[in-house]
Amino acid sequence: MNVRAQMTMVFHLDKCIGCHTCSVACKNVWTDRRGAEYMWWNNVETKPGTGYPTKWEDQEIYKGGWEKNGDTVSLKGAGKLKGLKNIFHNPHLPTLEDYYHPWAYKYSDLFTAPEGDDQPIGRAVSLVTGEPIDIKSGPNWDDDLSGTPDYARKDVNFKDLDEVDQEAMFQLEQMTMMYLPRICNHCLNPACVASCPSGAIYKRGEDGIVLINQERCRAWRMCVTACPYKKSYYNWHTGKSEKCILCYPRLETGQAPACMHSCVGRIRYLGVMLYDADQIEKVAASPDDKLVDNHIAMYLDPNDPEVIAAARANGVHDSTIEAAQKSPIYKFVVEWGIALPLHPEFRTLPNLFYVPPMLPAMAQVDESGLYRTKTNELFPSIDQTRMPLKYLASLFSNGDTNKIAEIYQKMLSVKIHRRNATVGDLSPEQVQNLSQNTMIDADMANAIYRLTSLATFEERFVIPPGHREESIEMLEATADAKGETGFGFKIRPARGV
Ligand code: SF4
Ligand code: SF4
Repeated sequence: MNVRAQMTMVFHLDKCIGCHTCSVACKNVWTDRRGAEYMWWNNVETKPGTGYPTKWEDQEIYKGGWEKNGDTVSLKGAGKLKGLKNIFHNPHLPTLEDYYHPWAYKYSDLFTAPEGDDQPIGRAVSLVTGEPIDIKSGPNWDDDLSGTPDYARKDVNFKDLDEVDQEAMFQLEQMTMMYLPRICNHCLNPACVASCPSGAIYKRGEDGIVLINQERCRAWRMCVTACPYKKSYYNWHTGKSEKCILCYPRLETGQAPACMHSCVGRIRYLGVMLYDADQIEKVAASPDDKLVDNHIAMYLDPNDPEVIAAARANGVHDSTIEAAQKSPIYKFVVEWGIALPLHPEFRTLPNLFYVPPMLPAMAQVDESGLYRTKTNELFPSIDQTRMPLKYLASLFSNGDTNKIAEIYQKMLSVKIHRRNATVGDLSPEQVQNLSQNTMIDADMANAIYRLTSLATFEERFVIPPGHREESIEMLEATADAKGETGFGFKIRPARGV
């Protein structure tokens, strides 16, 4: 067992209100610079929709992530040979138009235009060329436009839905949408790290944050292709690639990342999990139907004495182990099993997990236009969800609709327990049956309810004190491990900076 610590996250999608405060907080702190105007390290998409950059989930276009090759995995489009072939022309890179052409308005014209018969206007001007442009797309261009043919119907996740299901989603009374906030997943098997010819990208030993060394980056942009989430960006002004740094300067001083701190819906949770790094290659190459379970099984019980001993032997500090024991992420992902990774089939083993949104999926109205809340109809209605389970399964469980249905049953169970506690109109048998079906007893239901609805700042963000001395010696010469899984674990870690 090779135990390491990893910063992990949960986004609770039922609580996201699509306000974009997270995106704006991140932009103001990190990407309000020349060459970074088009970058949104944090973005919030409307689903169904095509997202940012457009159709980022379609790996037929972008060739990001890993593909299974027997017992191992190889990069889809940016491995040693494939990368070499495309070194001077990479057809899989998103263009500026796939993101959007950044612009500003020439407000000065409003004040300096000569007197005339017409009203002066502030024209849109490209922030790249300085020339006037006609705006064709922008950040969140399809915001709240679910149901429109141009965006929602082009969502890649419809591939598993038959035509009838798809059409049903576009009927006015059935139409539904959800928000999907996204940041870098600081993956356990990061394709960006493995693809970099310069060895400029590395994963911090003490907390697994993935960073790009700006001095070593040589602008090959292989990381942009390799990241299936398109969370590595090229700065055309500096000639270097950049990505989310999980606000590590804030984390090192005990503060939550800017996007999380500012989140209006309080949907974001952050904490440490311990995992077994020896499993990376094997888990990344899991059969399709085992991928999610094997991934989640990599996160170790932080209260297990064997795990604690192995973590200490690897130089993980006691305060980090204590933080892992209080991690809200461990509860959501492992203990309660109600959060799943986004697009696990990309095989990067992401560390950001999502609680699937229940409201747009389950919300149903009766003939009189009221929400149906009758408890004896709740479970049957899981099969008649407004947002098809197949759609959500395409996002979060590699197509396994049972996984999504199980989570909904658990979440409904929490609601029914709470209804029983506050309204008290259910029979003891109903509550009993429910607990047996979902394995959620009253204590667990209350714990889920509390962390979901009432958690304090300190409960949502459990950040260990910074320990640079834990920066385990495994990050030197990452180029040697290019194309290998998990940034190439060649040497067992030892203490030292
Ligand atoms: S591959 Fe993972 S770690 Fe690398 S940029 Fe993409 S999401 Fe982040
Ligand atoms: S700040 Fe929070 S609630 Fe608002 S869009 Fe971002 S993730 Fe959603």
